[in-house]
Amino acid sequence: MQKIKKVCIYCASSDKIDEKYFEATRELARALVKNNTTVVYGGGARGLMGTLADTVIEEKGRIIGIMPHFMKEVEFHHKDVNEFIFTADMHERKKQFMVGVDALITLPGGCGTFEELMEAITLKRLGIFTKPIIILNLDGYYDPLLNMLDNAIEEGFLSENHRPIWTVFTDPGKVLEAIQQSAPWSKDAIKFAQV
Ligand code: AMP
Repeated sequence: MQKIKKVCIYCASSDKIDEKYFEATRELARALVKNNTTVVYGGGARGLMGTLADTVIEEKGRIIGIMPHFMKEVEFHHKDVNEFIFTADMHERKKQFMVGVDALITLPGGCGTFEELMEAITLKRLGIFTKPIIILNLDGYYDPLLNMLDNAIEEGFLSENHRPIWTVFTDPGKVLEAIQQSAPWSKDAIKFAQV
């Protein structure tokens, strides 16, 4: 079994969400720390980002925040994260999220999380990023987005060949299994990037 040393997690900055999302985030964080997996995330102190960092720190795991300087200036950053990378802008931050990770994991989130996920799917389609992209579809939160992706395939905007770009799972405690079960992908994807 391939060792999962480092993953990046995209997730919500909002606090105004149901407790079930926080609980799922804690469970996923615990599973990663137990596996000695380093977590990379957006560096926030609130919402699922804050809970993710709090749990990894509590469990004595390793977490790295990546955030643009302007967010630090408005005190968005988590004060107890041991390692931080501050970037010039949002574009550089998204680029940094993908460096050296074994997988990207998307938890429920808002427009920022959608944007991060869609950029990752686009780069993987082009063979620029090749690692597993995992979506936690907790209680059907991502059903509309997954339906949109299905619709894009059905209507010819993506091809059936692109479907293995993302892997959907529903049990936060089974995140490592979801990564292992993700279909292999290579840089040659550029050869079938076009529909
Ligand atoms: P969202 O899924 O819309 O909550 O977006 C999460 C993303 O929004 C983060 O990765 C950031 O790009 C940005 N963001 C918005 N508010 C914050 C915050 N308070 N702290 C950190 N990042 C934030």
